Amino acid sequence: MVVSSRRALYAPGVIIGRWDIASLVDARFALDGGAMFGVVPRPEWERAAAPDARNRVPLLARCLLAIDRDAGRVVLVDTGPGDKWDPGRAAHDALDRAGLGLDAALARRGLGREQVTDVLLTHLHVHHAGGVTRRGPGGALELSFPRATHHLQRRHWTWAHGPSDRDGPTFTAEDFELLAHTDQLHLVEGEAEILPDVELVLCEGHTVAQQLPRFHGDQTHLTFGGDLVPTRAHLEPSWISAFDLQPVTTLEEKKMVLAEALEDDGVVAFGHDPGMAACRLGEEEGHPVFRERVEL
Ligand SMILES: [Zn+2]
Ligand SMILES: [Zn+2]
Repeated sequence: MVVSSRRALYAPGVIIGRWDIASLVDARFALDGGAMFGVVPRPEWERAAAPDARNRVPLLARCLLAIDRDAGRVVLVDTGPGDKWDPGRAAHDALDRAGLGLDAALARRGLGREQVTDVLLTHLHVHHAGGVTRRGPGGALELSFPRATHHLQRRHWTWAHGPSDRDGPTFTAEDFELLAHTDQLHLVEGEAEILPDVELVLCEGHTVAQQLPRFHGDQTHLTFGGDLVPTRAHLEPSWISAFDLQPVTTLEEKKMVLAEALEDDGVVAFGHDPGMAACRLGEEEGHPVFRERVEL
């Protein structure tokens, strides 16, 4: 086993090379099961995710905290939906942050918002980037992580400013527009190495230029699944959410990411799984399948 089991400074978590990685949960929420599983019939998906009376399946908004202690870098991958939702929309998505939230999750690791040096945004959908901004004491929007550089793909930034009618409701400008007026937005061009030993896996199926960070260690890695592999059930390549703009592209991208994880005995961290943060894969009839949960 290459992933070190030595005790992490901010346990629980795993150590991948220079990176000490933990899962942080911002909120519970729920989305329509049919939308989460696309063409999969309900009798199949409801065995994996039991829906509520309104056909919604329970989800978590999961972020990653990755710390490079030697370089003094504190990286947050996604920010969750944040706390400035209006009550109607919060009820629609069953948004619930009781006992959760990034403030509490960071505090448990002895950290505060101002210590986050980098926010790596996979994409700007509201469950991932709502927490980029929050309302300050006077009601004005402010950056939630005031000292952080925010990394986002340039092509995604452009798309988020002119999405299609189909995915427009998944973006909320007040979550991210403030970044345009700061010097804390780093628009990334493709697969640039923005952090040491971090590869950006670019995915075009879910939205335009979703970037999934892959943290490399000694012959292993951890990939944040974001909305490419949001839950354990989505390890099945054809289980693809109806939110995806190009589901067949997602299919190919997912097969690639899972095959690479299997080859490296890597960890796949889920973006929204309600029950586990991450897993390692095994092989069944030549295909990557769930093998074991990984505590992050
Ligand atoms: Zn998304
Ligand atoms: Zn998502």
